[in-house]
Amino acid sequence: MEKEKLISKKEIKNRIKELSKEINDSFIKNEELVIICLLKGSFIFAADLVRLINRRCFIHFIKASSYYGNTETSGIVNFSEDIDIDINNKNILLIDDILDTGFTLKKITDFLNKRNPKILKTCVLLDKKGRRKVDFESDYIGFVIDDVFVIGYGLDFDEEYRNLPEIYYVKEL
Ligand code: 5GP
Ligand code: MG
Repeated sequence: MEKEKLISKKEIKNRIKELSKEINDSFIKNEELVIICLLKGSFIFAADLVRLINRRCFIHFIKASSYYGNTETSGIVNFSEDIDIDINNKNILLIDDILDTGFTLKKITDFLNKRNPKILKTCVLLDKKGRRKVDFESDYIGFVIDDVFVIGYGLDFDEEYRNLPEIYYVKEL
């Protein structure tokens, strides 16, 4: 595989610091936050971000998948619906790695909204704005990127490359 660096460690670190400020300032002050991270892609981003959130936090995970060893989404989103927490009247922050067609976050936010949270906001590290197939926008966005397939910093290609500390795009498979 041929890959080229897209976003450096330093850029990621700086942007996450800014994002955490936005989040700390905008959710109702001092109220506790329930953070739900989508596995697996967001695990590194979420780990870095939550350490900068300055209030009581409760952290949960949902496993979502729509990719099957390919660089194109299947459009079918599977996720574990067994979050065993009561989110009724809670402040929720849903974290994902990347917003692409929008199928994943649309489906999961619809599901969570049925359980009547007080506020539900979403945060993504990356946003491929030009690829949207359903009407969905995230409240907090790390970086807007072009239509390229990215790996590293939690993002995989066929489960590999998640450990790369920076974000690369795939030039040739
Ligand atoms: P959506 O449902 O918005 O089309 O896709 C969201 C999910 O697809 C992301 O959570 C991520 O797992 C995966 N995805 C979309 N684009 C990319 C990409 O460029 N690289 C990787 N590794 N995963 C992607
Ligand atoms: Mg994902």
